[in-house]
Amino acid sequence: MTVRTGAIYLVGAGPGDPKLITVRGREILESADAVVHDRLISPGLLKLARADARIENVGKAPGGIGPSQDEINDLLVSLARNGCTVCRLKGGDPFIFGRGGEEVLAGRAAGVFVEVVPGVTSALAGPASAGVPVTHRGLSSSVTVVTGHEEPSARDGGVDWRDIAQVQGSIVIMMGVVHIEAIARALVVSGRPSDEPVCIVERATCPNQRVIFGTLGTIGGVAERSTIENPATIVIGVAVDALADRAEL
Ligand code: SAH
Repeated sequence: MTVRTGAIYLVGAGPGDPKLITVRGREILESADAVVHDRLISPGLLKLARADARIENVGKAPGGIGPSQDEINDLLVSLARNGCTVCRLKGGDPFIFGRGGEEVLAGRAAGVFVEVVPGVTSALAGPASAGVPVTHRGLSSSVTVVTGHEEPSARDGGVDWRDIAQVQGSIVIMMGVVHIEAIARALVVSGRPSDEPVCIVERATCPNQRVIFGTLGTIGGVAERSTIENPATIVIGVAVDALADRAEL
């Protein structure tokens, strides 16, 4: 496969471990003139860029400081228009809560060639790296991925946890660590059992990965005592215990 100049490549970098980028993603990263990356990209991956490549970190620091999405779109388009092969390196998969769709639309609107290179999303790699199969024959036949970014009580267009509480199978929550206590409470109020298993995977696939277990009733306290922080993926459901009976540990 070729790598074009004057083009934007939205490359999924994978969840953290630099070895979890795809072969196609690595090929583009290694040949790019410009690499425009998110905050959480492993330094090990950035080392693969050409020594003379322009490297731009456009990630948001905690507190939301960083370039706006419009500024990022403009940067991608102007680099491509100047003839660069642009590697837009995004955590996980570009289309899972990554605003990748907006970057595709911006490129297209400017008449720039855009290719999306799928990535290993932390929504699935997080649970997998903690030994949690989000689907498991006889236990879980679906998985729902949802953002926990908003305050659970937020009414305006936020996630309705009463609806989420009705789904079968596993629930994976991204960006939810700050609100986990309130989310767990909202799910129990909406009918989920308070002893339903929960697992939180912090910095999945990185050397300092941490995994904690609890139930909807206990997870808020466990997360607080363990000082779990972002990035972390939360998985809720009976499949959390599919490969090990945590209750016996
Ligand atoms: N596009 C990304 C997700 C971006 S949203 C993907 O597909 O993975 C950012 C959220 O992803 C974080 O708040 C966290 O919930 C999750 N996340 C990203 N990297 C992670 C990691 N290494 N371990 C656990 N969760 C991670």
